[in-house]
Amino acid sequence: MSLSQQTAVELAALLAAKEISAREILESCFARIAAVDGRVGAFLGYDAEDALAQADASDARRAKGETLGPLDGIPVALKDNISLRNQPLTCASKMLKGYVSPYDATVTRKLREQGAIVWGWLNMDEFAMGASTENSGRQITHNPWDLSRAPGGSSGGSAAAVAAGLTPLALGSDTGGSIRQPASHCGVVGMKPTYGRVSRYGVAAFASSLDQVGPIGHTVEDVALALQAIAGGDPHDGTALANSVPHYREEMQRKTGPWTIGVPEEFFAAGLDPDVKAQIENAIAFYQQQGCTIKKVSLPSTAQAVAVYYIISTAEASSNLARYDGIRYGHRSEKATDAIDIYALSRAEGFGDEVKRRIILGTYVLTSGYYDAYYVRAQKVRTLIRDDFMRAFGEVDFILAPVSPTTPFKLGERATDLLSVYLGDIYTIPVNLAGLPAISVPCGTAHDMPVGFQLIGKPLDEVTLFAAAQQFEQAHDFAARRPNL
Ligand code: GLN
Repeated sequence: MSLSQQTAVELAALLAAKEISAREILESCFARIAAVDGRVGAFLGYDAEDALAQADASDARRAKGETLGPLDGIPVALKDNISLRNQPLTCASKMLKGYVSPYDATVTRKLREQGAIVWGWLNMDEFAMGASTENSGRQITHNPWDLSRAPGGSSGGSAAAVAAGLTPLALGSDTGGSIRQPASHCGVVGMKPTYGRVSRYGVAAFASSLDQVGPIGHTVEDVALALQAIAGGDPHDGTALANSVPHYREEMQRKTGPWTIGVPEEFFAAGLDPDVKAQIENAIAFYQQQGCTIKKVSLPSTAQAVAVYYIISTAEASSNLARYDGIRYGHRSEKATDAIDIYALSRAEGFGDEVKRRIILGTYVLTSGYYDAYYVRAQKVRTLIRDDFMRAFGEVDFILAPVSPTTPFKLGERATDLLSVYLGDIYTIPVNLAGLPAISVPCGTAHDMPVGFQLIGKPLDEVTLFAAAQQFEQAHDFAARRPNL
């Protein structure tokens, strides 16, 4: 196994023992990209010189005998909606072609402060709208376990890059499932933290009341280390929670269960592929064997979640994406002859179909006359969805559920079946609407593709999710598996 395919914790141990250098890890990532990413298509690009300079600085710190954090010298690649100072940021959209970030996102700055090598920009659905990464305006990303299939999305580049061993860690963003679903489809671990746990400053906005940044890695511990580095309050983001960040790695060792686990009946109803269901049931059986109590819970408003999400998220997107006007930001049409044309033609040329669809839908639900009927009502149902979860948490420590009703589909297969793509997010969307943390963990295979389950926690209780997820991981060998590329 190349260095680039190993876990962050393994690499940190090799670095600490001075058996390898940060430069060697990074060079192994470059070599692996050269060898396999022509077939996977996860990276949109990277700046080798900048990344190597960061690696050399890490090696120099280590040579001096400085006390270093666990991520020092570890490469962490970014979804292409997270700003890296002086580097391109496109959100995989033609709209942002040629745009260069003038500053680091807070998550980028925090990772740098921990000595991590923050590098590369990873493919995604345009502006994070999609569930297969096929909506990218840049390129197609292939699932490393079966190149004819989608990696999931919208953080498909992030999940595929980790699964293919191109970078040990990556960040993604999750508005309706975009970290957990591709993690599940690519056989890696992904966490969507509590809304507000991680700053969104410097992260291109999709739906601001739902967006959350989180890590993707091979193991629960790697993901916990990465979350440790990026979590916390931020004067630049009023929604970033100032609550102190627990020491995840220490505290998760102290939590050993047994837990009371909620299993929501609505998540196992029609539509769940029986082979996927069987894998989730194995995970439930595992926890039962560990002495956990399994309790049926009901989240009745789940049935409305997808509809509510496509009202609220598109409303927010229509407002957030108004800034791409061809004047302050974004592609400017060369055909435009007056001011109105600059807006209309630039946006028509710059945005892809799915993004346009969402802007139109979002503008519609915010229009006077429809605002109360759609937007305000959706906000009320959103409260009911959160109430369902909070009621369940009165009885259980966390909830176990599938991530996706199916395994990843063939590239191109769902191109015209939008409704079925939207409905595929039925298990992830309610979690964003309720603002809760959730982690996706590999638990088996169905139709020869990876399957993950998710653990959904109480607000700010990421620690319990890490502890319980790690208990499952350590009893199985999924974290050690790598696709044969
Ligand atoms: N698939 C969902 C959508 O298209 C979720 C995307 C996301 O979480 N960014 O909106």
